[in-house]
Amino acid sequence: MPQFQAPRGVSDILPSDQPYWRWLRDTAARVAANFGYAEIQTPVFEHAGVFIRPGAEGTDLVDKEVYRFEDRGGDDLVLRPEGTAAVCRAYLEHGMQNLPQPVRLFYISSFFRYDRPQAGRYRMFYQFGAEAIGDGEPAVDAEVIDLLRSFFDALGLTGYRLLLNSIGDQNCRPAYIEKLRAYYADKLDRLCADCRARYVTNPLRLLDCKNEPCQPFKADAPKIADNLCDACAEHFATVKSLLEGLGIEYTIVPTLVRGLDYYTRTAFEFEPAADGGQQSALGGGGRYDGLIEQLGGKPTPGIGFGAGIERLILNLKRQELGPPELPRLNAYIAIADPAAQVRAVQVADALRRANVSVVAGAASRSLRAQLRHANQLNARHALVIGSEELASGTVNLRDLETSEQESLPLEAVVLRLSH
Ligand code: AMP
Repeated sequence: MPQFQAPRGVSDILPSDQPYWRWLRDTAARVAANFGYAEIQTPVFEHAGVFIRPGAEGTDLVDKEVYRFEDRGGDDLVLRPEGTAAVCRAYLEHGMQNLPQPVRLFYISSFFRYDRPQAGRYRMFYQFGAEAIGDGEPAVDAEVIDLLRSFFDALGLTGYRLLLNSIGDQNCRPAYIEKLRAYYADKLDRLCADCRARYVTNPLRLLDCKNEPCQPFKADAPKIADNLCDACAEHFATVKSLLEGLGIEYTIVPTLVRGLDYYTRTAFEFEPAADGGQQSALGGGGRYDGLIEQLGGKPTPGIGFGAGIERLILNLKRQELGPPELPRLNAYIAIADPAAQVRAVQVADALRRANVSVVAGAASRSLRAQLRHANQLNARHALVIGSEELASGTVNLRDLETSEQESLPLEAVVLRLSH
């Protein structure tokens, strides 16, 4: 056991996995750009109040999972647990409400939650997220959902399912909550302890409780989709018809909810094909028309999603989908005579300037050992420089696949390898 290991719930992303990450990053950026979303990066830590707002208490994220610390200057800070509130903070701070609306933004960022680590659930993880702020039209809801499914499609992922619901707004939700409370009133003693608390603080969350005792009551609970006001019902109907027009299949899930006041109307989640258990969501999102106001702005609608990169990679591997092959190492320079060391670094420099990838061998090792190293690195060519090549101003170019070799002037080698 080494003296130190990475802390529980966080891990290194090793070179062998980097091709997946690059592939996902590049694909996300390309798809987002196709939808007119511009990249934003917010800081890893924020003032605690960005996330720990009076209106956000009562969720695990804020109550149990946030990494909160005081810095040496006494500021109350948190490691960002999610992207939306940070992006909305930036939207307000930079006056983006004065830009044409909606402002379309995306990010690929790390997030931090003190969660119980398990497969697909970590304490530091990455999300591809997008936010469209400043337009409440249902077309934006459909666009954001379309963006996420286009990302999955671009990766070749199949069999995923879109789960959809509408959770109403300030007009219709209070009456619905009362109906929900009335339904659960005589069942309280059979609910889990969490749900007995939720009944008081956050009744909507009764619907997405994962604990066994609470499952039997869900099916007959009043459904929010049946209790929407006219405006919310019409909004939801338009979102659905746009999705149908796009050929995006969805399943209405009445228990798909978000437990905070600032969430409104559309809520959605993408589930992978394989049953990955409880922690399986590939990504989820929804409308948050009350959030900007909670952060001190004027009432401003918004909608977005976050999709977990690690979880996506797990699912891509499960479907045996992988990144396009990486270019292999083009050239390995083997130094056959210690006197050729300076010449070797010059040759390497000239090749790299022509965009040829080069690893230089060590003059202290035998030529044999260097050529073995070239093979281990799967280099395409070996360039051998010894006393003969030094004297004639050439380089001995060996094709490591065909074993052909010839001595050429440096310019000819650069020309050959860079094409
Ligand atoms: P949320 O921000 O909780 O709506 O999560 C959005 C997505 O981020 C989820 O669907 C997952 O794909 C991913 N995710 C959330 N929490 C974690 C975590 N602890 N570890 C890894 N991925 C996560």
